[in-house]
Amino acid sequence: MTQPIDLRALDLFALCRKGESLAGDVAVRDLPRILAETAAQAPASAPDETFAYTATGFMREEAAEPGAPVMRRLFLDVTVQGRTWLDCQRCLAPYAEPIDTATRFEVVESEEAADAAPMDDEVDVIAGSKHFSLLELIEDEVLLALPVAPKHDVCPTVHESLVTGSDGEAQPEAEPEEEKRPSPFAALAGLKTRH
Ligand SMILES: [Zn+2]
Repeated sequence: MTQPIDLRALDLFALCRKGESLAGDVAVRDLPRILAETAAQAPASAPDETFAYTATGFMREEAAEPGAPVMRRLFLDVTVQGRTWLDCQRCLAPYAEPIDTATRFEVVESEEAADAAPMDDEVDVIAGSKHFSLLELIEDEVLLALPVAPKHDVCPTVHESLVTGSDGEAQPEAEPEEEKRPSPFAALAGLKTRH
């Protein structure tokens, strides 16, 4: 079994060189910037909810062109899955926004090297470290995944007012669920009349 890993200070270079893979859960309470985004009216258990993450390092040795010196490039694939409680901008009620990210990073030696790296749509460049905080990277991933304008797909309060007509518009009463389903007897009758 592997040693317990300190997600706040791991040797990212070694992880990539060895092609190691990490997986686990991090609690929202350990992600202060996510806590700050969490809806005030979220369930009391929201800080106890967790994000499942994976982090897989790998190395590629390649030459920029035939005959050129072989370069070692380090990469890290990170996935984060979970949910974040946000305030819906339409009805102001809290709701759980699903988070499901998968990102490939190229790991370079230093901040300077990261700044100097050419922009690439497919790979984000990050500066590695021997005391790298994977926790912060996971937090970054969640923050980047949050919608600019958080909203329910369908707001429950809006839906309710439509059903009851309390917003002043005349709306037909929703039929009780049972009446929408054809009864087995009606289906039988249908079979009989078809012959
Ligand atoms: Zn809403």
